[in-house]
Amino acid sequence: MNNVAYYHFTIGKFKATIIGDGQAQFPPHPLYAPNASKTQVEDALSNHFLPTDFYTLQCNVMLLERDKEKILIDTGAGTSLGPQLGKLYHNLSAIHVKPEEITSILITHCHLDHISGLISENGAPNFPNALIFLAEKEWNFWKEDFIDLSPMLLEDAFKQNFINAAHRNLRPLRDKIQTFKFGQEVVSGVYAIDAVGHTPGHTAFLIQSDNVSFLNVGDVFHHPAFDLEHPEWATAFDQDPKQAYKTRIKMLDQAATDKVMLTSYHVPFPAVGHVRKKGNHYEWEGIMWKF
Ligand SMILES: [Zn+2]
Repeated sequence: MNNVAYYHFTIGKFKATIIGDGQAQFPPHPLYAPNASKTQVEDALSNHFLPTDFYTLQCNVMLLERDKEKILIDTGAGTSLGPQLGKLYHNLSAIHVKPEEITSILITHCHLDHISGLISENGAPNFPNALIFLAEKEWNFWKEDFIDLSPMLLEDAFKQNFINAAHRNLRPLRDKIQTFKFGQEVVSGVYAIDAVGHTPGHTAFLIQSDNVSFLNVGDVFHHPAFDLEHPEWATAFDQDPKQAYKTRIKMLDQAATDKVMLTSYHVPFPAVGHVRKKGNHYEWEGIMWKF
């Protein structure tokens, strides 16, 4: 079975598309919610009618098109997490977008599942004409030879994969990387929002056009069953779980109050919807499929 995953919609003058990069299975605990018990995590999954022995991680990249501009937000996992992910390149061809037409790539953060689509298996840039936009704080962290991932609750070999992916995908593009500060308009109509915690420069992007607003929250939350329903649940990938929690609450409260439509990278495809506040947690309301 194979579904080509793309979903088109509009944000004012932008044509927006969510492009699925694929999915892969991981043990749910302790990767997702190391600060909860295995039973709590299994209960959360079964409450959502999901298997409890594995968790299916999806990655969903956003494409924004306006006139000749073609902007990607994140680039998928490339080959970093196995053959089930890394479908962005193939799925772009399904919507007749050529890699050389991509003008800008905005990166939410430099974890391997977000940046490994930048460089091909043979070491060449996948998007040769694109400028890469990255928060200054994020670039300053990941550009170093020594990257301190000690807060991540992962085995050393897995942590090393994150470091290798950052070096492999960012260093060849050094001359094309442009850094931004939070609050800045990165490309016309797309603003960088401080969403630090998950990584030191983790960024959300607010897209505005014709009085329509849309939020791309990156990894501010991962799955409706986990850190939406249990916003206090961390992930093993958080650099600063306490700050990630503060950011999550702040951004979700705002999104719920403003009723702003949003995408979150790991929410099940098409990964577009709204959040609703219920007591001290949140619910996901996915958009209805448009034919
Ligand atoms: Zn991620």
